[in-house]
Amino acid sequence: MPPKDLFSLHGRRALITGSSRGIGLALAKGLGEYGAEIVLNGRNPDALEQAQSLLQDAGVESSLSAFDATDQAAVISAVDTIEQTHGPIDILINNAGIQRRAPLEDFPRDDWDALMATNLNAVFFVGQAVARHMIGRRKGKIVNICSVQSELARPGIAPYTAAKGAVKNLTKGMATDWAKHGLQINGLAPGYFETEMNAALVNDAAFTEWLCKRTPAARWGKVEELIGAAVFLSSDASSFVNGHILMVDGGVTASL
Ligand code: NDP
Repeated sequence: MPPKDLFSLHGRRALITGSSRGIGLALAKGLGEYGAEIVLNGRNPDALEQAQSLLQDAGVESSLSAFDATDQAAVISAVDTIEQTHGPIDILINNAGIQRRAPLEDFPRDDWDALMATNLNAVFFVGQAVARHMIGRRKGKIVNICSVQSELARPGIAPYTAAKGAVKNLTKGMATDWAKHGLQINGLAPGYFETEMNAALVNDAAFTEWLCKRTPAARWGKVEELIGAAVFLSSDASSFVNGHILMVDGGVTASL
């Protein structure tokens, strides 16, 4: 592979969970612009159609696979259908995620269960379903979206922090078990990005002031700033990188 083609994703198919908006949609567009054919996912078919039309405007080829990533039977069936109908999934970005905020002493059990189901169980369900196909081909890239909260706690989101910490170690476990089958599994850990998940915080001047003090780069991240790292981890450019967590956080985890 000539060095100039190391980042090319031409001829690869990428399934990105939770790609109807936010980080997932930005990565879908970014990987698509590097040549990948995209399979968009989320639970809302209307939102997925809107995302597909945005990709179409950018010249990115995509198909839709609406499923709930917390439902293991639905995941297995959807992954099998994609493989049979469209062809091999070469890249999986495990991105679907939710946030719930409350003081830990009052944290509702239902919210704990929802956070674990979406932010942790789904990474295992989709990862395992896709890896079973990839192992047969002895080739495949999985990128699990972690978080600065895989490393650090912040008030009011302890269960999210617990789930994202577990995703970091699940990533290392996947790499440990599946590298021998030719797979590469890495994590991408965003800092603080302006998406719907953070809508309340983006509009909270006090939080933004805290964030700018806490982040060496002194600003929110823009979702497009995650594309380079995702393309690197999805392409031949990272051919000997396995079980690594790549922080894209403006320096948050580098400093106290
Ligand atoms: P958004 O809320 O903007 O988007 C979440 C996406 O996930 C949507 O497409 C949503 O679609 C989908 N989704 C949620 N639940 C499910 C489910 N059960 N099955 C399938 N799809 C689902 O979030 P972000 O873009 O901000 O976050 C994306 C990822 O990045 C998450 O894992 C998040 O934890 C992580 N992250 C985000 C950071 C940030 O600053 N924004 C920082 C660090 C990590 P629908 O609801 O229609 O199903």
